[in-house]
Amino acid sequence: MRIDQGTRVYGLIGYPLDHSLSPFIHNLAFEAMGINAVYLPFPVKPGRLSAVVEGARALGIRGFNVTIPHKETIIPFLDGISPEAEACGSVNTVLIEEDRAVGHNTDGIGFMDSLEQEGVEVPRMAIILGAGGAARAIGHQLALRGTVTVFLNRTPERAEKLACDITRITGQESFGVSWDSDRISDFVQDAELLINTTPVGMYPGIDQRPPFVLKNLNPKSVVADIIYNPPKTRLLREAEALGLKTVSGLGMFVNQGVRSWEMFTGREAPRKLMEDELRGLLLKNET
Ligand code: NAP
Repeated sequence: MRIDQGTRVYGLIGYPLDHSLSPFIHNLAFEAMGINAVYLPFPVKPGRLSAVVEGARALGIRGFNVTIPHKETIIPFLDGISPEAEACGSVNTVLIEEDRAVGHNTDGIGFMDSLEQEGVEVPRMAIILGAGGAARAIGHQLALRGTVTVFLNRTPERAEKLACDITRITGQESFGVSWDSDRISDFVQDAELLINTTPVGMYPGIDQRPPFVLKNLNPKSVVADIIYNPPKTRLLREAEALGLKTVSGLGMFVNQGVRSWEMFTGREAPRKLMEDELRGLLLKNET
């Protein structure tokens, strides 16, 4: 890699950033496409976001990704946000053009891309486990495509609020209930897609799974997890054992990165290379 006066700088802000794989896929794509750019991890403690946005403008940084805990709190420091980011109330990509810092969100669309790549049709009804930022981004994209979504969450009030917000913003019916609600049985047989958006099952807690009874699902349902480390979670392994089609979170992770990378560069990203190399890295780390 050459570094010179023409090197463009991109990066990721979050805290902590110990295990982020975004630098790996972004730098790999720059190198593969012969682009003189570098993508750096910037661990930024809460309370420093005004300085980050101003500093990025001053240093000529062209864009950066945003992760936990800054996805919502960065919004007041930006000059504008896209309609998707506004609907989700969170930003994962900031583009700086002509001194204007504008926030976008590529998580929901990255998930939809991964369904399409796996040949999964947009469902009429979906169940989403969790009601956090990722659930909001995915639920919004599904609602825009006409899916009725039921959010099941440990904290039911959060699921109810999310369902209300999605219905208000998109006009699409949504429901929010607790993990153990009796009402789940009303939805389970009609759900064509189940998506885990909680961190339950993520490395190092790989023996865990969300408390959802998979065998009650319709046999034609698809089970997706947005956890990408490990690429195949315990939930997905159990779904496969029941004969259900599964979708790994690895695709979403690569796709949200691809969407950001393409906004940064205006070029088509080498998506397959990024996915293959990332899968190889994660599998190597597992052994
Ligand atoms: P978040 O806003 O913190 O939301 C987390 C959700 O999971 C909340 O609904 C929370 O429930 C629930 N939850 C957390 N721990 C739980 C537990 N032990 N048992 C039951 N429920 C639990 O997080 P997020 O930004 O949505 O991210 C969620 C997950 O998605 C993370 O694992 C993240 O790495 C992954 N993710 C993947 C991608 C990708 O590209 N593949 C993109 C974004 C996020 P409460 O409301 O009750 O707290």
